[in-house]
Amino acid sequence: MRRHKFNTNHLGQAFQSSILPKSFALIPGQKFFVRNEQGKYKIQFYDLNSDKKYEFWRRGSSAGSKIINPNYRTIIQEVEGKVIGSLITSILKHVSDKQVAYRFMDAFSYDYNLRRQLQRGASFKLKVEKKYEEKEFIKYGELLYAEVDINGKNVQRRFVEFPDGGAFVDEEWNQENRPFYAPASYSTFSSLFTYRRRHPIQGYVKPHLGLDYELPEGANIYAVSSGKILRMGRNRAAGNYVVIRHLNGLESYYNHLKSLDSSLKAGDFVAQGQVLGKNGCTGYCTKPHLHFAIKKAGKFVDPIKYVKSYPYHRRSYVKRELALNKE
Ligand SMILES: [Zn+2]
Repeated sequence: MRRHKFNTNHLGQAFQSSILPKSFALIPGQKFFVRNEQGKYKIQFYDLNSDKKYEFWRRGSSAGSKIINPNYRTIIQEVEGKVIGSLITSILKHVSDKQVAYRFMDAFSYDYNLRRQLQRGASFKLKVEKKYEEKEFIKYGELLYAEVDINGKNVQRRFVEFPDGGAFVDEEWNQENRPFYAPASYSTFSSLFTYRRRHPIQGYVKPHLGLDYELPEGANIYAVSSGKILRMGRNRAAGNYVVIRHLNGLESYYNHLKSLDSSLKAGDFVAQGQVLGKNGCTGYCTKPHLHFAIKKAGKFVDPIKYVKSYPYHRRSYVKRELALNKE
């Protein structure tokens, strides 16, 4: 902004009321737009995580800021390619955004480990939204479709949008034998269940006996099935946590929540899909996420094998899926 002649006085005024959300970040290479309309000099930044843009302006010696809803035009880009090197770099040859490549991995994350299971030359397809304002490409939107050959088998996933997230679904789903529904709406895993992981804070190798869901702060955390709250509260490592015992004898653990639903207490029964609290970063935590774990007969087991990726219990989602089908 200084390069565009916003002086200290302008900056003071422009940032007097902070319009930027805490989560806002500029990434290197991110575009911004400069407009000069009849002496009003404007700089506009697009928020890549939400559908907002932020304007800072100056005119003479005064300055200010405002939030704008961009008028996006969305087109769908279709990509077909082959995996040469890693899947991520293969996707990046067609799509210039790592998030899209990560999202592609997310689409299969409950059933496959694409980092390990893909063969060289495997073909993939995807459809992704691209958002434009006027003639300018601003950002990629949601990954709508993902397809990849895994050991000769063609596997497809379609994105279903929820009011607060979404999931990737498969027509030939075979997750019915999984007892639990997902504890959160999106399914980006930042850490998988493993007996060997370098601890992000302390640095030494330590098992990670749960599954980390990367979620925005404040996202709802749901009970994966009905059951009785064994314990809930706050401790140093887990932060705000809940432990539920289910009818099948399994226990589910939810750690690092920002807040717990104040109407709940130990001993209460909860329904499947009931909100337990909000995602956060309490306890030993560096970035908002849900640490989710399952205990079976006193031992932690890999949750990924117990959880359905698609929350069928939340009926409003099914409607939206049907609507998408018609297009
Ligand atoms: Zn964890």
